[in-house]
Amino acid sequence: MWLPCRCTTKYVAASIRRGVSASSLHALRRGRSSWNSAAFMPESAGFEGVSGRDALHDYSVSHSENFWAAVARQRLNWIRPFEAVQDCDLSQGRIKWFEGGKLNVSVNCLDRHVHTCPERVALIWERDERGSEVRYTYRELLEMTCRLGNLLRRHGVKKGDCVTIYMPTCPLAVASMLACARIGAAHNVVFAGFSSEALAERIRDAQSSTVITVNQGVRGGKITELKRTVDAAVQSCPTVRQVFVAMRTEKRVEVTDRDFALEEEMLKEDVVCEPAAMDSEDVLFLLYTSGSTGKPKGLVHTQAGYLLYAALTHRYVFGYHDGDVFGCVADIGWITGHSYTVYGPLANGGTTVLFESTPVYPDPGRYWDMVERLRINQFYGAPTAIRLLIRYGDQWVKKYDRSSLTTLGSVGEPINTEAWEWYNRVVGEGRCPVVDTWWQTETGGICIAPKPSEPDAEIVPGMAMRPFFGIKPALMDTEGKLLTSNNASGALCMAQPWPGMARTIHNNHQRFLETYFQPYPGYFFTGDGAYRSQEGYYQITGRLDDVINVSGHRIGTAEIEDVVVIRSDEAHLSDFILIISVTQFAKRLPKTRSGKIMRRVLRKVVDCDLDSLGDLSTLDDPAAVQEIIEGHEKLL
Ligand code: ATP
Ligand code: MG
Repeated sequence: MWLPCRCTTKYVAASIRRGVSASSLHALRRGRSSWNSAAFMPESAGFEGVSGRDALHDYSVSHSENFWAAVARQRLNWIRPFEAVQDCDLSQGRIKWFEGGKLNVSVNCLDRHVHTCPERVALIWERDERGSEVRYTYRELLEMTCRLGNLLRRHGVKKGDCVTIYMPTCPLAVASMLACARIGAAHNVVFAGFSSEALAERIRDAQSSTVITVNQGVRGGKITELKRTVDAAVQSCPTVRQVFVAMRTEKRVEVTDRDFALEEEMLKEDVVCEPAAMDSEDVLFLLYTSGSTGKPKGLVHTQAGYLLYAALTHRYVFGYHDGDVFGCVADIGWITGHSYTVYGPLANGGTTVLFESTPVYPDPGRYWDMVERLRINQFYGAPTAIRLLIRYGDQWVKKYDRSSLTTLGSVGEPINTEAWEWYNRVVGEGRCPVVDTWWQTETGGICIAPKPSEPDAEIVPGMAMRPFFGIKPALMDTEGKLLTSNNASGALCMAQPWPGMARTIHNNHQRFLETYFQPYPGYFFTGDGAYRSQEGYYQITGRLDDVINVSGHRIGTAEIEDVVVIRSDEAHLSDFILIISVTQFAKRLPKTRSGKIMRRVLRKVVDCDLDSLGDLSTLDDPAAVQEIIEGHEKLL
């Protein structure tokens, strides 16, 4: 892998500096007794009469334009200021933010930090091989990005093109994303566990002429032949002209005329690369959803609004401060990796961990060993991994020092109470707020989470709770009417646009309108169900198309999974299928590559409709489906 030259003493000095600033910030946090909006959120200093978290939230939705204009001016560096804050009409599915403005996302993520703190660590690459982490400063990441940007330009990649990145989570993948942003190309990151067919479909849909990959992937101690997968994929992708191949391992791979050795080519390039001046609404990336509910959708995110929203949520939901180390273990192939491994932390000048491994490699202590070694302050993971780790016992957690942790985050699925309690009590020793963050590829960033809140405000286990600034949730009943009271359940919608939301589905604007804007005119429809408590807190009840109708009561999957607890060596509470009068047990459930249960497949099995299982390209292990089918046949 391409490693820039470095001087070791510099890192020692940098980490001592980081230690000093981190401890003084902790002291500051401890001393803060009540919520002063302007002190907490400097962007809100000009908002007259706003004091306290709830007042700031009210202001952010009632004076949405003022709020977002102030935040955008202060958080982002603009080449040219924007003229209009927004031009949105949810009834038409029209979403535009900060028009007239020009900026460059890579400058916002790199150059401005290089000016103030070039030797601050930007990335800590937690390689699959435990204990072999590598740090990259902002200066080094900028150099890498510029070389890559120049290389792509020299190879004819232009503004408006879309580059497919099929790489594991690693510094060159981050630099590839930022290099695209630097020269104005869009990126399309495809999870490096997908098959050649799934990759080919995404390359074709994105019409990419360029693919960036690695010779081999290394994850959980296993080698995957990523370059070979790309070779197979591009056979059915006539648009692909060139493939850049980085070396993750020593192994030489077969090369064709269209292949280039990435690190070798980068060395020929200059370390300065002129950033393109991008319009706020130019495309930054497209990214396919997890495919839990159907064929994956290639959602399009644009420059300014997305970056602003990722940065703001990263700063305030997790309480990220300068000098902290942020550990989001999501793969960069998912939106969580985009917003909270790459764009949010880097826009905030943070230190972000790139996790290449798995929670159980080489043993189930991997996460917590990493927390101790890298002194991670905020840890952000998925319920599926938490549930897996519970089975191995507390000793794997307790073995390691977790005193650096200040916040624990959860994302991807509802977190059942048992998992929440374990995360809180065992991992966080009861002293770290657990933030259950609800959001989607479509929303660009976190929309509902327990934080930010007043310092001592309650956090209810398994509840996402509070809408973020600028977010105005709405619940709809089965007739499509707005539910105005509390203590109500319904379809979760958003009544107002926010800068981070997706702008369209690539190549399919009609599907975008039909999926998100037509079901409840004037609202953005999330596809999920939610309950709003007496206090006004939100709890996600699951996907609406998974709702089970029992004697007229519409019950979400999260509600059932939280109540029924089944334990045996193999079965776990999420690992069962409930069929009203018949219960089918299964050792495991079909899951997407991002760890979500593909319930639509279960429904088809129950309906004996095996010919229309739908798009299975994101399925983790097809054998799990086969087992369920066989189990179901035995029941019949
Ligand atoms: P597809 O849209 O292709 O079916 P997907 O919805 O799984 O796939 P993502 O955008 O990765 O794709 O996931 C977003 C979904 O994940 C949300 O709509 C919600 O159902 C679920 N989700 C995410 N975070 C939470 C959470 N904290 N609590 C409950 N559900 C969550
Ligand atoms: Mg979805």
